[in-house]
Amino acid sequence: MNTASTTETVAPPTTNRRTPAVLRALVGGDVHVPGEPGYDAGRACFNVTVDQRPAAIVEPRNAEEVATVMRFAAAEGLRVAPQRTGHNAGPLGSLEDSILLKTNALDRVCIDAPARRARVGAGARWEDVVPAASELGLACLHGSTPDVSVVGYSLGGGMGWYARKYGLAANHVIAIEVVTPDGQIRWATHKRDAELFWALRGGGGNFGVVTAIEFELLPLETVYAGALFFPVERAGEVLQAWRTWTADAPEEVTSVGRILQFPPLEEVPEPVRGKSFALVEAVFVTDEEEAARLLAPLRALGPAMDTFASQPPAGIGELHMDPRDPVPYDSAHAMLGELDSTAIERLVEAAGPESGSALVSVELRQAGGALGRTSPGAGAVATLPGEFAFFAVGIADPDMTLKTSADLDRVAAAMRPYEAGRYLNFVEKTSNAAGFFPPPVAARLEAARETYDPTHLMQANHEIGAR
Ligand SMILES: Cc1cc2nc3c(=O)[nH]c(=O)nc-3n(C[C@H](O)[C@H](O)[C@H](O)COP(=O)(O)OP(=O)(O)OC[C@H]3O[C@@H](n4cnc5c(N)ncnc54)[C@H](O)[C@@H]3O)c2cc1C
Repeated sequence: MNTASTTETVAPPTTNRRTPAVLRALVGGDVHVPGEPGYDAGRACFNVTVDQRPAAIVEPRNAEEVATVMRFAAAEGLRVAPQRTGHNAGPLGSLEDSILLKTNALDRVCIDAPARRARVGAGARWEDVVPAASELGLACLHGSTPDVSVVGYSLGGGMGWYARKYGLAANHVIAIEVVTPDGQIRWATHKRDAELFWALRGGGGNFGVVTAIEFELLPLETVYAGALFFPVERAGEVLQAWRTWTADAPEEVTSVGRILQFPPLEEVPEPVRGKSFALVEAVFVTDEEEAARLLAPLRALGPAMDTFASQPPAGIGELHMDPRDPVPYDSAHAMLGELDSTAIERLVEAAGPESGSALVSVELRQAGGALGRTSPGAGAVATLPGEFAFFAVGIADPDMTLKTSADLDRVAAAMRPYEAGRYLNFVEKTSNAAGFFPPPVAARLEAARETYDPTHLMQANHEIGAR
């Protein structure tokens, strides 16, 4: 076992790169290289079509070990790719000359209920925090799946179930512990390393390996949440009604209109297995009476199934029914501006019951509200453009890849006239990160990258200032 410290210097450059013995001598956490047991499990990610093959996989146990790995990588001419769950491994590109730095072991969770704050390690997923906070009458700004990491989600922005009322998770972050490419362990806040703190909140991991994050919690003991399921044949009528309803919906509700085709797989619950629906999902942060009043026009459509109920914040973890096990898939996304009835007609024509679409989910998440306003002290992703986030996903196993790709192209083309931008967290292929931000923000992020990572040691998410 090694007791590496921040002042330690790494082995000289004559070290045979990728030598596991050297890394193991420097770091107490697990190290895996190609051909060894543990390598294949370590490189697996959520989208199984992504075949990442890093030079080595290292699981540091603390910030000091992270710093040691980064110095080792720099000395060896390798890059460092931080990763927790692999929920967005697609944008990274080849890891052949990179160390995949898995943050799994940095999983500490501390909740300070009176201060309404949590501090969690980079290995913590939302499911490690949300239930514990909920027990204390507090809610987190998590998104649709409980098993993404708090850090990965928040560094990209974090658009969740309370977004229209409270905005992006990134803008509720109070402090970030980060190891920068120079090997320093920093605690970035509004006052300390303020430019780094700004860039981290939206820049998606390009500026260092985050080891812990501290963020605000919301004082919410209960929410009113659920889904209305309609036969998919009613998709046009239901999604039109939902679109009209969103125009007057207050910021206290964040909702999703979608077409969902459950695959005929055993892990899907029997009542919905292999069936297709048009759905409205929503979370209200009002009292039940007000929520029921607001929901009434959609309920009046007569859903086949209505799961809305008052519940503690922990109850909404599975509301969106995202898969938990790794799957082969492909996706398409865009932020959309205001939608007229033609937009819904186009969506249903491209992905509805008569389209022949095999996509598992085609959804519109309502944005706007607090997502469209810059809060004081906001980070690089202060707002999201447009009024809706479009996201479509389909199975991409060898039998389905071509069909899914054609279906995605068709529905994305149908939404193209309404495009207002893109949101970094929802883009799952390599992209030019500058396109996610207004030009002055992109330029400021590139300048921050030059300051903190001039050698581009970091290989994280969508690359800022790609060369
Ligand atoms: C099923 C599903 C549902 C989703 N729902 C939502 C949602 O509702 N709202 C939303 O906003 N997003 C959502 N996302 C997107 C998700 O937030 C991003 O994919 C996020 O990057 C996942 O973070 P991760 O750490 O779990 O994934 P990883 O693939 O492990 O990490 C993704 C990227 O995050 C960065 N990163 C992770 N850890 C660190 C670290 N310690 N230091 C520096 N950088 C780091 C790296 O750049 C890394 O490449 C969803 C994704 C999926 C697959």
